[in-house]
Amino acid sequence: MDDARRDEIAAGLAEVEQRVEQACREAGRARSDITIIAVTKTYPASDVRVLAGLGVADIGENRDQEAAGKAAECSDLGLTWHFIGQLQTNKVRSVVSYADVVHSVDRFRLVDALSREAVRQERQVGCLIQVGLGGPEGGGRGGVDPAEVLPLAEALNRADGLTLRGVMAVAPLGEDPGEAFARLYSVAQAVQKEHPAADVISAGMSGDMAQAIANGATHLRVGTALLGRRKPFVR
Ligand SMILES: *Cc1c(COP(=O)(O)O)cnc(C)c1O
Repeated sequence: MDDARRDEIAAGLAEVEQRVEQACREAGRARSDITIIAVTKTYPASDVRVLAGLGVADIGENRDQEAAGKAAECSDLGLTWHFIGQLQTNKVRSVVSYADVVHSVDRFRLVDALSREAVRQERQVGCLIQVGLGGPEGGGRGGVDPAEVLPLAEALNRADGLTLRGVMAVAPLGEDPGEAFARLYSVAQAVQKEHPAADVISAGMSGDMAQAIANGATHLRVGTALLGRRKPFVR
């Protein structure tokens, strides 16, 4: 194992841990309420292995092809895999084969496709509804309109092979993330009123962890702050 890389990741993790602890103190929340999901997209399976060795149990990926390979290479580690990217129905078969939680459920057709595959593969897949916080245009960051969340929650709740776990969002660009996450919190409350067990709020990335924690997040999706800046995506 590359010791320099291990040290780098350990330092990133220690710093994230410190920021999370401080945000919890400021928000009057318990550290144990928060799960850090390490987002490993663009980084190799060897980094996943390092993270696992440092005690990280939750891994997030946003592209199926990349995620499937890493999940297979790391299948001995007993990790929980979170699929956090936009999900095309033709990728559902693959995603269901390794993902424990899908954070990006945003339409009825996807609920049907996930349910069919989960039943076929005899898997139980946790599902979060991705909520669009950027207004009718979605702010370019995906998700369903808050007004459409409850019907989708109902469909997920009824779907075989799927477990409704809660909601997820990405803060829109050009707005105070705290204000956006406050809106997500009220959507989450409305979902929990109908489905009390759906208590997950996946919000907060490297740049807005504290605002997410202040607004009720239970799961943070952290990439850059743990692993370093990703190479710009080239099409
Ligand atoms: C890449 C990604 C993250 C992590 O972002 P960082 O800013 O690197 O922490 C979180 N959520 C989603 C949906 C992502 O695609």
